[in-house]
Amino acid sequence: MLPAKRLLAWHQAKEALRAAREEQKRLEEAIAAAERRVAEKEEQLRRLPVPANPDEEIARMLLEQEWWLAKKERDDAAASYADRNGEQEPTIQQLQFDIMQLEAGLDPEFLRAYLRLSETKALPIAEVRNKCCMGCCLPLSLRKLDEWRRGKGPVFCDECDRILV
Ligand SMILES: [Zn+2]
Repeated sequence: MLPAKRLLAWHQAKEALRAAREEQKRLEEAIAAAERRVAEKEEQLRRLPVPANPDEEIARMLLEQEWWLAKKERDDAAASYADRNGEQEPTIQQLQFDIMQLEAGLDPEFLRAYLRLSETKALPIAEVRNKCCMGCCLPLSLRKLDEWRRGKGPVFCDECDRILV
C-alpha cells in the first residue's frame, strides 16, 4: 500500500473507532440521565405525605405514573445500549486491530507531518479527486499533481497545507 493510502486508511479507521466510542458514550449518558430521573421521582414519592384527601391521592397517582414512565425509559435505554454494543463490539475490536496493523507500517515522515498538522487542523489530510484537493476544494497545479502521483514523501496542498492522499 502506498504510504499516502496507508495514512488515509489509518486515519479513517481511527475516525470510525472514535465515532463508535462516541456513540457508546452517548448511550451510556442516556442511561445515566434516565437513572437520575428515576431516582428523582423516587425521592419525590418518599417525600409525599400519605394522601389525606382525593386531591392528594391524585397527586400521588400522577407521580407514581411519572416514576413508572421514568423506569420504562431507563430500561429502554439500557436495552438499546445492550443491543448496539452487541453489534458494535466486534467492529470496535476489528478497528483496533486494523489501526495497530496500519500504524506499524506507517511511513514516519507521513506520520510526523500528520501529527504536526493535527495540532492546528481537525482534518490534517485531504483526498485528491478530479485533480482537486478535497480539503479546500481548489484545483491542484500540474506540478503538485505530478509530485503527489510519484508519492515520494508527503505532499502538501499549497492552499490549505493538508497532506494530499
Ligand atoms: Zn487544499
